[in-house]
Amino acid sequence: MNEDNTTNAVIGIPRAISYYGNYPFYYGFFKALKIKVVISDKTTSQIINDGCKYLVSDTCLPIKVFTGHVINLLNKGVEKIFVPSIQSTAYKVNNCSKIRGLPEIIRNVISREFKMIEPTLDKTENINLYNFCESIAKEYNITDKKIIKNAMKAGFEIYNNFKEMAKSGLTYTEALNHAVNGEKISKKINVVRPISVAIMAHGYNLFDERISMNLIKKLERMGVNVYSSLNVTGDEAINAIERLGEFQYWANELELTGVAAHYILNGKADGIIALSAFGCGPDSLMFNEVSYHAKEHNIPIIHLTIDEHTGEGGFITRIEAFTDMLMRKKQINIKKQTQDYQANQNTEKLMQFKEMKESCKKSVSRSKIKKL
Ligand code: SF4
Repeated sequence: MNEDNTTNAVIGIPRAISYYGNYPFYYGFFKALKIKVVISDKTTSQIINDGCKYLVSDTCLPIKVFTGHVINLLNKGVEKIFVPSIQSTAYKVNNCSKIRGLPEIIRNVISREFKMIEPTLDKTENINLYNFCESIAKEYNITDKKIIKNAMKAGFEIYNNFKEMAKSGLTYTEALNHAVNGEKISKKINVVRPISVAIMAHGYNLFDERISMNLIKKLERMGVNVYSSLNVTGDEAINAIERLGEFQYWANELELTGVAAHYILNGKADGIIALSAFGCGPDSLMFNEVSYHAKEHNIPIIHLTIDEHTGEGGFITRIEAFTDMLMRKKQINIKKQTQDYQANQNTEKLMQFKEMKESCKKSVSRSKIKKL
């Protein structure tokens, strides 16, 4: 199948930017083409520092992190590195200039010798996913359309399994590991947590544990149920954006405005956390838009910005203050509603609220102990 018989063909994938949304697809696609995938290591301080050395300081953190991951792959001896240019993901649904021009950035800042595999996806200009995949395969002398289409099908199979598992309640890492192992399992969520938040954030910020400083785990330990882009389908996100009277302009908007809009409208989240990189233009526009609608629906929102200097102490203090405020608000509501149910003798609801009250008490005392 591989015309130059390159069963030892290799591609290096930086664990950053599009890796977080598309890796299950990339993995299935390359595996079907018999191209070995080498991923860069998980983000470390060293990787961030390496990226920072090559870029001007006001470049956003995710691009610095991506650059650091390219260096990491070069240090592993990988010679072909995947640096896609994802311009638009639907007609006039665009990425920011840095993601669009990623190959140009890398070419201009890293002077070491290596081959960039730099396919373009630009649906506004009719450059679709098949064209994207075809140009990758061509770099490995694979030109047979049927082989390329079958590899895409294999990629989608893993990608769809990943999405389904994540939506059923598995964490990002659990869903990813099962998907690439060819497994498909689902999880029943039994944990009752008193409050819930929706996080609006790019996958490359939220699911990179070093960049987000393990935000999801920290919140869960504080007794907070977390919703993210893993729990919302693309259709649900688009639908929610439209119901708020907005429209999708940015390619990553579904993970941000879409997630926030979905939870603003369905009332399942007590608050919204916006996590974004310092200096990100698209995120600041989306945050303003979401803030306006959150205020309209009386849902508290906090904006956490991150860069390479963000310290964990201040970060924890801000999320603790926010979740404590949500907890108090919830307790006041529970008290008010309990009185209503008592007046109406609704015993079923009263039992549910008693359980909720107990879990609120436990979570508040846990967060106080942590602060001491
Ligand atoms: S969307 Fe924002 S954070 Fe992401 S690459 Fe562009 S400027 Fe950076």
